[in-house]
Amino acid sequence: MRVKSEVEKAIKALDYNLYKALLLNYGKRGEKAFFYLKENRVKKYRDFFVVVGKEEYIVEDNFCTCNDFQINLKGKKPCAHVLAVYIAKKLKLYEEFDVYYVDFLKEMKWRR
Ligand SMILES: [Zn+2]
Repeated sequence: MRVKSEVEKAIKALDYNLYKALLLNYGKRGEKAFFYLKENRVKKYRDFFVVVGKEEYIVEDNFCTCNDFQINLKGKKPCAHVLAVYIAKKLKLYEEFDVYYVDFLKEMKWRR
């Protein structure tokens, strides 16, 4: 997945410039992506990146498990989560867990 060049150029820090570029190029989705980064909602597991929104969404390079990505965007444009992970990787703004997310999911089910 490639982001628009204006956004690409603004990925230097989590600052107003980046916020503006995201908002102008991606509207509400861009704004949400910035919010996810600001709130440290991007998590890196051994197998996947996960963004914590209303639910937890699994993100791979150009794929996200959210409805917005799959239904509204038809997998063709980045959703807020894909954007957030893209930027998080470049700025190393994620929390890292040395476990597999799939194992974590299994355990969650087991606890319920
Ligand atoms: Zn998404």
